[in-house]
Amino acid sequence: MLDDVGRKINYLRISVTDLCNLRCRYCMPEEGILKKKHEDILRIEEIEEIVAEGAKIGIEKVRITGGEPLIRKGIIELVRKISNIDGIKDLAITTNGTLLKQYAKDLKDSGLSRVNISIDSLNKEKYKKITRGGKIEEVLAGIEEARRVGLAPIKLNTVLIGGFNDDEIEDFVNLTNNENIDVRFIELMPLGQASRWAKEHFISNIKVLENFPDLVPLCKEDKESPAKYYKLPMGKGRVGLINPISSHFCSSCNRIRITADGRIKPCLHSNYEINIKSLIGQNIKLSDILKLAIKSKPKEHIIKKDEYEPIIRNMYQIGG
Ligand code: SAM
Ligand code: SF4
Repeated sequence: MLDDVGRKINYLRISVTDLCNLRCRYCMPEEGILKKKHEDILRIEEIEEIVAEGAKIGIEKVRITGGEPLIRKGIIELVRKISNIDGIKDLAITTNGTLLKQYAKDLKDSGLSRVNISIDSLNKEKYKKITRGGKIEEVLAGIEEARRVGLAPIKLNTVLIGGFNDDEIEDFVNLTNNENIDVRFIELMPLGQASRWAKEHFISNIKVLENFPDLVPLCKEDKESPAKYYKLPMGKGRVGLINPISSHFCSSCNRIRITADGRIKPCLHSNYEINIKSLIGQNIKLSDILKLAIKSKPKEHIIKKDEYEPIIRNMYQIGG
């Protein structure tokens, strides 16, 4: 379906939990968050129903995210249900990877197409520091398992954090030299409780290009992806830059998001939401609510403009 400015909206991102087993400094408070009541979180069947209604109006791609999606009870069942919905051509998960060793095979067998794994440092101690206790060995084992079962291509997401991992750009880029792996650098966005921290540690992805002037820009194969891709001259994998702040990609935005508590967010950088959970079971078509959300997408975000209102939601609620 087209939105009001002619963009084709075919991508739905769903956060299936706002809980997480890590505490990344730019995302989750150290003490974690209060667990919501069961009835305040979308049930597996409700998520399935929303996706099925979305498919009727042209949703073809779905991403499951969180919080940490792999700690959600029933995640394998959800993957199986969504992958069986007519019209859904691509189903992916974004995960911190810590539980992938355990789940990769079941996810693949249930119909998952791909996986994005978030990893902000390749150094054991630094990884532990940024995630407040995470074990990098678990993520590396998860990546290996995902590869082994054929959840390909593997994409690593790395949020670039000034003074923390900008000295690792080279190590991350070099991963693409010998392996068919995509490393995508994401600019730190100011959202929710951690927005001040994010502003203080922001660095532009331009730094990657400054450090690697020999990166070769690639033609955009997937016009809808927010990433601009590059390659090392002899590299097997790709280096992606996702620059929501330094150069926004609103004109090619193809997505809407749903939070774990069932609010549709037409734009990540706006506080406007529609409570779809409260409308499930009412005498109203969910596809009409999704259409309304698509029609409400702003032309572009206004992060750099004076009228910008800070985003109240935290990333662990929205899912990236
Ligand atoms: N727990 C999963 C994970 O970490 O991949 C999925 C949810 S997490 C919120 C999704 C992505 O959002 C991760 O790649 C994470 O690094 C990124 N993220 C979280 N907060 C962010 C922020 N303020 N700016 C940019 N990316 C952020
Ligand atoms: Fe958890 Fe992902 Fe947020 Fe890190 S970025 S705290 S892994 S939800």
